[in-house]
Amino acid sequence: MRVLGIEGTAWCASAALYDAEADSVLIESNPYEPDSGGIHPREAAEHMSEAIPAVVDAVLTAAEDGYGPDAIDAVAFSRGPGLGPCLRTVGTAARALAGALDVPLVGVNHMVAHLEIGRHRSGFDSPVCLNASGANAHLLGYHDGRYRVLGETMDAGVGNAIDKFTRHIGWSHPGGPKVEAAATEFAADHGGDAPDDLLDLPYVVKGMDFSFSGISSAANDAHNDGVPVGEICFALQEHVFAMLAEVAERALSLTGATELVLGGGVAQNDRLREMLATMCADRGADFYAPEPRFLRDNAGMIAVLGAKMARAGDTVAIAESAVDPNFRPDQVPVTWRNDAES
Ligand code: ATP
Repeated sequence: MRVLGIEGTAWCASAALYDAEADSVLIESNPYEPDSGGIHPREAAEHMSEAIPAVVDAVLTAAEDGYGPDAIDAVAFSRGPGLGPCLRTVGTAARALAGALDVPLVGVNHMVAHLEIGRHRSGFDSPVCLNASGANAHLLGYHDGRYRVLGETMDAGVGNAIDKFTRHIGWSHPGGPKVEAAATEFAADHGGDAPDDLLDLPYVVKGMDFSFSGISSAANDAHNDGVPVGEICFALQEHVFAMLAEVAERALSLTGATELVLGGGVAQNDRLREMLATMCADRGADFYAPEPRFLRDNAGMIAVLGAKMARAGDTVAIAESAVDPNFRPDQVPVTWRNDAES
């Protein structure tokens, strides 16, 4: 089976071809990069309408060159969660393509795709998943035919919380990689260790839920008070990632799971991966994070999960394929796992 995947929930216009038999994934992406500030929904949707045709065309051409005219067996698209104007553009493209190619349409939950790509690439059976993405932060575990939300942010997504600080200090979007670079430089200047007087920022964990809104404001205040940027970036990472490591460990402990997968754009951060790897090693659990092209928003993860869903007959009629900006991962009946009940 070969699936054309299309992703465009927020900033990344992306198309992919997944060949399930060869387990190979070709991804074409075109990011929206605002000149200043954060992601503007209307500009992002305009980007999608300009960039999606080009990335889809590149993938279709590669598919036809490699496999002939009937290369595509299904079209999968990210149905939500995400920015409504972007999702509608991508949904329209996916419906048109499925109709024109006369193949089934598959509506994929973007957050479940972040999780499933880690499960697929690791070969793990039933991991707890930490989704550390821009607009979201969830801990998910599988139970009784669904991925359940074990814990989640009570306000901002993890990447958005970091980006809020970088917007405040005038850095362009995305801020996460710049914070990582500044924090790494600060750590190197301190011999790789956290200073004894680590800048104190709000650390808010309640059970397996957590909050980032206070930490963004406190980081902004610290900058206004003249604390050096590198010191703030370092402390911001240490606090935010320690919160994520704490709740991930609690989820492993409460579920008895022995596998953790990481997903989402913030998962590209080396310090976050290091903390989670250390935590897992300390408790004898296995840890896996896919390579960066599968972590940030990408159509590869949509195509891979789309193929699993199509195989399970989990397709959607065009008339019923409306997008859902608030589509939660626990709304999705998991039809594609052997142990799924539905
Ligand atoms: P979602 O998947 O929830 O819809 P999203 O569409 O914003 O989120 P992602 O690609 O998952 O997209 O994540 C983008 C976020 O990842 C941005 O907030 C960006 O700052 C952050 N990010 C990217 N690289 C790094 C890094 N090295 N360290 C920390 N954060 C990073």
